[in-house]
Amino acid sequence: MPERTESDSRKLLRRLRDTLATPGKGQDRLDRITHLIADSMGTEVCSIYLFRDADTLELCATEGLKAEAVHKTRMKLGEGLVGRVARTGLPVNTANAPGEKGFRYMPETGEEIYSSFLGVPIQRVGEKLGVLVVQSKTARQFSEDEIYALEVVAMVLAEMTELGLFSGDGEGMRALHKQPVMIRGNVGQEGAAEGRVWLHEARVVVTNPVADDPLTEIDRIRAAVGQLRVSVDDLLAAESLDKDQKQVLEAYRMFAHSRGWLKRMEDDIARGLSAEAAVEKEQSATRARLEQVPDAYLRERLHDLDDLSNRLLRILTGQGKDTGAMMPENPILVARNIGPAELLEYGRKLKGVVLEEGSVGSHAAIVARALAIPLVIHADRVVTEALNGDAILVDGDQGIVHLRPEETVARAFRDKIAMQAAAQHRYASLRGLPAQSTCGTVTTLMMNAGLMADLPSLEGSGAEGVGLFRTELQFLVRNKMPQRAELAALYARVMDAAKQRRVAFRTLDIGSDKVLPYMKPQDEPNPAMGWRAIRVGLDKPGVLRMQLQALIRAAKGRPLTIMFPFISEHAEFVQSREMFLYELEREKALGHIVPERVEVGAMLETPSLAYAPRAFFEMTDFVSIGGNDLKQFFFAADRENERVRRRYDILNVSFLHFLRHIVGRCEETGTALSFCGEDAGRPIEALAFAALGIRGLSMRPASIGPVKALLRRVNLSEARDVIETAMQDGAVTVRPALMAWLDAQGEG
Ligand code: PEP
Ligand code: MG
Repeated sequence: MPERTESDSRKLLRRLRDTLATPGKGQDRLDRITHLIADSMGTEVCSIYLFRDADTLELCATEGLKAEAVHKTRMKLGEGLVGRVARTGLPVNTANAPGEKGFRYMPETGEEIYSSFLGVPIQRVGEKLGVLVVQSKTARQFSEDEIYALEVVAMVLAEMTELGLFSGDGEGMRALHKQPVMIRGNVGQEGAAEGRVWLHEARVVVTNPVADDPLTEIDRIRAAVGQLRVSVDDLLAAESLDKDQKQVLEAYRMFAHSRGWLKRMEDDIARGLSAEAAVEKEQSATRARLEQVPDAYLRERLHDLDDLSNRLLRILTGQGKDTGAMMPENPILVARNIGPAELLEYGRKLKGVVLEEGSVGSHAAIVARALAIPLVIHADRVVTEALNGDAILVDGDQGIVHLRPEETVARAFRDKIAMQAAAQHRYASLRGLPAQSTCGTVTTLMMNAGLMADLPSLEGSGAEGVGLFRTELQFLVRNKMPQRAELAALYARVMDAAKQRRVAFRTLDIGSDKVLPYMKPQDEPNPAMGWRAIRVGLDKPGVLRMQLQALIRAAKGRPLTIMFPFISEHAEFVQSREMFLYELEREKALGHIVPERVEVGAMLETPSLAYAPRAFFEMTDFVSIGGNDLKQFFFAADRENERVRRRYDILNVSFLHFLRHIVGRCEETGTALSFCGEDAGRPIEALAFAALGIRGLSMRPASIGPVKALLRRVNLSEARDVIETAMQDGAVTVRPALMAWLDAQGEG
């Protein structure tokens, strides 16, 4: 890099900083900056375009173009050369702008006389904020050094925009993190909540993008990189790592030790950036590359580099995870993604969760469900848009998030919450009453649980017991395998809290998406159909045995109900049950009190089990339909794949035929049958299941009220006739017929 340009860019940055330090309104500042850049770069034109909304750019300040075009000229993302820079995140440098593909002439600006064009993105770690452009009459290509200098200035502008230096005086300028934003994501867990944003990983705020003393900054970056390298080396030295984890970390280490990375940051510092800004500039470049790379492996590696940049920024700014900020009241957690253990650490404090990634069947979703808080997933850009403490509304029913909402939106939302609360209040009056339909049939309503903290809901919801206790949550929240005594104590507390009510403990259902942090992840092409649940338990019985012993001890003589997940054939059930009976005998022989009564059931989650020999139905004490899995295998529609998971209605006639078959098999042998998938908690679905003869439904606690209210008002045999008629009439799904029937009774 020639010495001349180096000092030029430093000089330019210093002038820029002085300009920004002078008090003034946002627009004045922008005007001064365009003037200064044009002057320093020797161009006739300098313009700043900022995003007005996600895909519209607006000319916000200019030196050289017609002043009346400011705040008038707009373009869409990808439109013209400016739009191209914004879309690709890459500079455009041309000596003949009008001859360039995609050039759009905007007469109001008077730019037709300018031949050369250099545009660079104004972006901050992947967040696109606008475009900075210089133009001149003489046809020339801008040099590498000039491009570099403009990029550095753009980066400082991005920091300043982030700090809100250009906003606040109307004129339609985009005030970052100030305006209301509505984000449409997907439903992870129903419910509605109002609160304040709590970022899982607080944004690192860089307040000093320009630095005077490069030597000090270089010392700082070297020290920080040194510290980073030590921490990565420490990670690698951990003894518990297996070969795969080591391999991943080796790649990580290679980046941390990369001389090129440090050198590029040092070059940026030499050109006038602070150490923090230099890290961010590199990070922005990485993110821009990430967007272009189709190769999954390379993308993973670039993610590593992105992660390292984050760590480095935290070291430099001292803004760790714990920024010292106080968690607001009614916190709503906002994160790119989060693991179940981390989510559980927040526990009941949270009012809701919003994730940029995540999936419906993920651990985090299961935990959010267990915590009974609304969850919105796939909320695009929420982490970039939200600031700690921002007002936020989470509509888990629609999968919508309102950030910094207008008062009218907030008011309507509060009305909705109030209506839901009033309904819950009405349901409370049904708490002690049975779900007895007008025909006299009684359906047992139970709740799903997985945490100690769920148990108080037993009283509040009026559930008659726990139809599904997901024991894996206790395993997922730890970073090492729990001990038998620990588990026994926990299960005993669950039984204590349930008083005399029945709790169906489902043995460990791991594998698929539920990977224990301390178990080696399996590299399987299709984990949902892979080595999971009872398959793991039977192949590697150590943990299952330990869990069974813990359950027997926890019962301390009380009745015990257990069920095995994902049983696909009779033999698997025989083997699992024998294992349990063996442990029971062993415990007895060891002198422990054993349960006075045991019930051993199977979850029916694969279609094959519905066709098991009669001996299976005779042997099992009960069958519990795991509708979430059963539905995904019945329709071959992945429960975690947003594109297909809602494609087939569970009230589809084929599925109901299948359910009827299961009901029939259980009736033949007098085997108790229940349904514990999410659909059991939806009133219309619950009505259909009950009408088909499923006498037990297990659901999240908040659903018990609405389901009970509906079941108590209807005649199940009439509902059954409606279903049968629709089935005979060749309907695809019986939903419309059921809804029409309810409507006719004023129940719709
Ligand atoms: C199911 O599959 O319906 C079920 C209850 O189990 P899980 O959702 O935990 O897989
Ligand atoms: Mg399941």
